[in-house]
Amino acid sequence: MSLIDRALKANKRYAKKYDTKLGARPAPKVAVVTCMDPRLSDLPDILGLPEADLDVIRTGGPAVTEDVLGELVVSTRVLGSAEIMLLNHTGCGFTTFTDAELNAKLTALTGDASPAPMRFFSYKDPEENTREQMKKVRSHPWIAKEVPVRGFIFDVDSGLIRELQGVQDEVAA
Ligand SMILES: [Zn+2]
Repeated sequence: MSLIDRALKANKRYAKKYDTKLGARPAPKVAVVTCMDPRLSDLPDILGLPEADLDVIRTGGPAVTEDVLGELVVSTRVLGSAEIMLLNHTGCGFTTFTDAELNAKLTALTGDASPAPMRFFSYKDPEENTREQMKKVRSHPWIAKEVPVRGFIFDVDSGLIRELQGVQDEVAA
């Protein structure tokens, strides 16, 4: 049986013990932009915060794309998130190729080029990448200046999160 079919069966059991209060309008307090990497899936445990407080936006890296910016604007302006956390990590799969390499590889593999070169937002250094993503968020006029934008690296070997120092001032300047 496919895992998705198995998940559909399990969902019937989940619905029996579902807390229907969760169906109310969400009121997240922190927007977390993090990687699609499965090792970052258990954010309530990793961060010690209730699921309901977290508005989680996931992309590879993470990359702050136009879509992510839109989601952050909604999270802070519509849903009420008061802080933004960019959570990068060590050992990211997106550091193992460049966009050009993967485009070439997939073109060779499938025999077809993508209609336009695909943006995978690959990167090399998690710190540098986080700083760049922070700047993108901080410089958007619709992200209120009162909303802190903080960058972190999750170490997949230790489970510890380290904050990037000095970036707040740098990006505020
Ligand atoms: Zn990753």
